[in-house]
Amino acid sequence: MSRFFSDKYAYLDPYTPGEQPRDRRYIKLNTNESPFPVSELALQEAAAAAERLHLYSDPECTELVKTAAEVFGIDRDEVLFTNGSDEMLNFAFMAFCDDEHPAAFPNITYGFYPVFAEINNLPYAEIPLREDLTIDISDYIDIGKTVFIANPNAPTGIALSRSEIEHIVQRNPDNVIVIDEAYVDFGAESCLPLIHKYENLLVVQTFSKSRSMAGARLGFGAGNPALISDLKKIKYSTNPYNINSMTMAAGIGALKDNEYFRRNCAIIAETRRYTADELRALGFLIPDSSANFLFARHPDIGGEELYLELKERGILIRHLSRPEISEYNRITIGSRKDMETLICTIRSILEEKK
Ligand code: PMP
Repeated sequence: MSRFFSDKYAYLDPYTPGEQPRDRRYIKLNTNESPFPVSELALQEAAAAAERLHLYSDPECTELVKTAAEVFGIDRDEVLFTNGSDEMLNFAFMAFCDDEHPAAFPNITYGFYPVFAEINNLPYAEIPLREDLTIDISDYIDIGKTVFIANPNAPTGIALSRSEIEHIVQRNPDNVIVIDEAYVDFGAESCLPLIHKYENLLVVQTFSKSRSMAGARLGFGAGNPALISDLKKIKYSTNPYNINSMTMAAGIGALKDNEYFRRNCAIIAETRRYTADELRALGFLIPDSSANFLFARHPDIGGEELYLELKERGILIRHLSRPEISEYNRITIGSRKDMETLICTIRSILEEKK
């Protein structure tokens, strides 16, 4: 730390992204990226946009917003795009939390939520999951806080139903409920249809996972026009050109290529079923996942040990050191071939331990 760094940030414990090593080629099952390339249509649109890089990008994302509104069946003033959904989540903490409206989220969830709360100097409550890693919705009824729920939750992969979330939204009419649907396309029910009905619901989605665009950085929030207008105020006070022209164009292409997206999600769901069956047959305990990853532990090998053994053999999975979940690993669903290699490698690791 330099002697110039402001005291107000000295205490920060930043978010740790998953490893992106360059030293050797790994089978990467650690950051929930898609095994499929971005859609051809997205690539073509991005290449055409590259010719206009001397100009600023459209701060209103006019074409992207129009396309998204059509695809998602929402109005244009109900959506705002951001540089990855991380930026939207940060905007939501900034816009809808303060001393009178502390944030609340599960104690085991996306590790960025407490960091967003800390950097914005916001009070927050971490609500324990049940023993079986599920969210107890009764904890969120009349909670009187700005709620952030990842649905499906990360890193567990466990989803709430739309009606359970609707219940939380109904029972907190004076607080914003933010539903982070980063993984919803892999098997959970989206709350997007509810945004017309409730003024206090913000649904956040990303193009990083199901639309294979992690490196392009594109996400969005959808909600009542008044909420979106609040979020725009934050955007135009921080970075009006937050979406670069190539990403914007790629996003339009990806949305138009909905068939490709749907097919990829279906393949990932099928590969998840195959992987979960095989791992359970090897003795792993895995909650039912609605996401593009599995959260798995094995009675005979520690979480960190398995992670290190696999890394040595060229396979990266995500180990989170938090004590409550340190026996688990989060394993991204990659291609069928990568998952076959994973299962084979784990089988030999377990056999060597006998
Ligand atoms: N929410 C959750 C639950 C996530 O796991 C991630 C990915 N790390 C994000 C949001 C952010 O994704 P992105 O910024 O790539 O849209």
